[in-house]
Amino acid sequence: MTRVAATIAAQDGRAISPAAAASDCPLTLQGITVSYGEKPAVFSVDAAFPANAMTAIIGPNGAGKSTMLKAALGVIPRLSGEVSVFGVPIEQARDRIAYVPQRASVDWDFPTTVIDVVQMGLYRKVGLIGRLSGAMTAQAKECLDRVGMADFAHRQIGQLSGGQQQRVFLARALAQDADLYLLDEPFAGVDAATERAIIDVLKLLKSNGKAVVAVHHDLSTVRDYFDHVFLINVRRVAEGPVETTFTTENLNATYGGRLGATHMAELEGVAS
Ligand code: ADP
Ligand code: MG
Repeated sequence: MTRVAATIAAQDGRAISPAAAASDCPLTLQGITVSYGEKPAVFSVDAAFPANAMTAIIGPNGAGKSTMLKAALGVIPRLSGEVSVFGVPIEQARDRIAYVPQRASVDWDFPTTVIDVVQMGLYRKVGLIGRLSGAMTAQAKECLDRVGMADFAHRQIGQLSGGQQQRVFLARALAQDADLYLLDEPFAGVDAATERAIIDVLKLLKSNGKAVVAVHHDLSTVRDYFDHVFLINVRRVAEGPVETTFTTENLNATYGGRLGATHMAELEGVAS
């Protein structure tokens, strides 16, 4: 669907609440519940991830962070809830979203080269059976260059280090030329140089008006990297600007008092 058509659908208010349709918010979740068994992994979560901002999704292991993202995208089914993207149901806005899954969840033995992985990000534009033109290949190479991986284009993906693999997945997301970027723990297991390279790319996306939402586990960098936080532990605990929401009180509520001494020390002077 074109953006014009999406806007018209939004004006019709089809299948989404008027509030979400009117907001043109990059990503709105309403009453999302997901369960793998009897106990919900994510329960009745509402969220509104803002435009022109970087949002961190924060919570302990098993809090439902990955599940929430996957359910929002429709990668796994949800029991209830509505998802809208830029004011329209997500089904109408898939081409505006790029998703980088948690690295641990990807099969790295899959025999494919770096440039192929990045070009997969372009398929939505050209169609799976359409041959990629030289211009598309050049675009994929440019995306690899932006993450410092241009020299690795013809390597097998499985032969790269964790940080290099993460950069390639970011390059694929860049190739999608999306308006909303969803990343699941993009900094997990990467070295300092890669972390810097990734954050620079994400900040540039933000300054170009894109919305970036990332599951993030390192509490010590939240203030430096993010504008907005969403705290979750199965249920939504708090959401808002970093200055007012990233507080020790909210973190304690999120981690259920399980925030260890190391974490608290890290946060001295970071959260207030
Ligand atoms: P987080 O990303 O916050 O660490 P997850 O969303 O991965 O948490 O997991 C939330 C809960 O759901 C955990 O208790 C986890 O064990 C469970 N879970 C996650 N994926 C599955 C699955 N495919 N099948 C069954 N349970 C799952
Ligand atoms: Mg996770």
